[in-house]
Amino acid sequence: MTTGFTKFNIAKDITNAIEEMGFEQPSPIQEKVIPVILEKVDVIGQAQTGTGKTAAFGIPLIEKTTPKNEVQAIVLTPTRELAMQVAGEIQKIAKHKRTRVLPIYGGQSIEMQIKALKRGVQIVIGTPGRVLDHLRRKTLKLDKIHTFILDEADEMLNMGFISDIEEIIGQANNDRQTLLFSATMPHEIKRLARNYMKSPRIVSATPNKVTATKVDQVYYQTFDKNKVDTLCRILDSNEIDLGIIFSRTKKGVAELTESLQARGYVTDGLHGDLTQMQRDKVMNKFRMCKIDFLIATDVAARGIDVENVTHVINYDIPQDPESYVHRIGRTGRAGRQGIAITLVTPAEMKHLRSIESEIGMPLEQGKVPTMKEVVI
Ligand code: ADP
Ligand code: MG
Repeated sequence: MTTGFTKFNIAKDITNAIEEMGFEQPSPIQEKVIPVILEKVDVIGQAQTGTGKTAAFGIPLIEKTTPKNEVQAIVLTPTRELAMQVAGEIQKIAKHKRTRVLPIYGGQSIEMQIKALKRGVQIVIGTPGRVLDHLRRKTLKLDKIHTFILDEADEMLNMGFISDIEEIIGQANNDRQTLLFSATMPHEIKRLARNYMKSPRIVSATPNKVTATKVDQVYYQTFDKNKVDTLCRILDSNEIDLGIIFSRTKKGVAELTESLQARGYVTDGLHGDLTQMQRDKVMNKFRMCKIDFLIATDVAARGIDVENVTHVINYDIPQDPESYVHRIGRTGRAGRQGIAITLVTPAEMKHLRSIESEIGMPLEQGKVPTMKEVVI
């Protein structure tokens, strides 16, 4: 079988691996951006979440990587989970080339990472803090890299990583290709691109309004004191295979997890106060569908791609429209249909309105099911 990827004229080892991953046709961003990256120019790639940006840079990256035993490329990601996920996807693309890919992130033993780096790694995927740590210890050098990639750049900006990123780029080989991927293009990201990229080409596969179009979006009115009840009725009346519930704060996540567990829901929470081991455990349970709902803060859920997430529920409405777009991007991924549900209290109606104006359409108002309508 030949897949839609053979036209890029990339090594057979790579097209075979892509085929084994089950990708038949390139997504629109992949279609547009892969040939440009292969020209070795700097590229800014913009496309909504869930459109395959990882493989969009991962495929040409593996094509460019040689058997030489040195760090040839670095990918910076905003979170540990994302570093692991991107490393996993790149590893799959490189399956038949035996490229050594190493994720490095905080919370994992630095000694183990140092050992792995000493053994020889060709592609490093890391979070900014831990990468800086290695650069300062001189256990990682970026003076020979051919490619520098910023993944989910807008998320890194939101998390306050810009100055770390600048420090890291400052230590990278000048003669390199720089690629920047982002779902949105805030001003600070454009500034970063201006300062650190060489006449970047902007490749965008985003409709005018940044929205995951494959997601049905509904909101329910509720009051603070009824929120948990409203949520439970919604959970009971929807056929939810796998859902992510967003709460604004770590404390909110912990409390909601406890109260849903007490009511018999199979759920667990993910937030920044957990240890790395606890976070990995929760994520694994979610990936293996051992829990039905993951309750998380925005930070904890950044960029996470879990197949088959059917519902995203905003228990707390996000205060800025961009984070709404990111949250709902967790469902309806790679062309699958998803449902986004948002709870709105009277005081939060103004946030709903600004979300509607960002996505360019009104959300449908849902009717909170009464007890009788709840399917048991
Ligand atoms: P983004 O970074 O744009 O949010 P991801 O790179 O995480 O999106 O991709 C989302 C999902 O789509 C992943 O599970 C990925 O394996 C899958 N995917 C990517 N490209 C394709 C493709 N061409 N065909 C099928 N699935 C794809
Ligand atoms: Mg991504």
